[in-house]
Amino acid sequence: MSAFKTLQFPTANIPPEGAAYAGEIAFQNLAIDPEDRFAFPSPLHFAFNLMIVNNDVVVTGKLSGVIEVMCDRCTDDAPCEVEVDDVFHRYENVIGDIIDLTEDIREDILLVFPQSFLCSEACRGLCPSCGSNLNREYCTCTATADADPDTPWRQLDSLKLK
Ligand SMILES: [Zn+2]
Ligand SMILES: [Zn+2]
Repeated sequence: MSAFKTLQFPTANIPPEGAAYAGEIAFQNLAIDPEDRFAFPSPLHFAFNLMIVNNDVVVTGKLSGVIEVMCDRCTDDAPCEVEVDDVFHRYENVIGDIIDLTEDIREDILLVFPQSFLCSEACRGLCPSCGSNLNREYCTCTATADADPDTPWRQLDSLKLK
């Protein structure tokens, strides 16, 4: 399966059952660049079907990929699946032209980027005192500051120590 550099597809000679285009495209080629919260180690996969409906070209299909998102609690990056199952765009009077889906697909996938994200439900975050990542490190400030013996984490810790 070839890696498309753009999402530009010809619409001439689309058969009645439609024309299928599948492949992958780098997020950068969708003008989606890495920033503080998001990174893109792998491309976005797409599978489209182009059909002629009256004088229009109707594009349906799916997008899927794995992006890296910064955890809101511990600030580590963790993989996050992003998916759009119901891509639907209609382009009027374009039969015979090359249509460019880049802008529309860019918007489709940006819509499913998470607004909030945790690396895991159980993420313990950063110690408010020393800044240690409590998923990886055990700092003494939490041991003294967190005096409640009934928190699940304390119970878990005491289990581990046995
Ligand atoms: Zn986290
Ligand atoms: Zn600490």
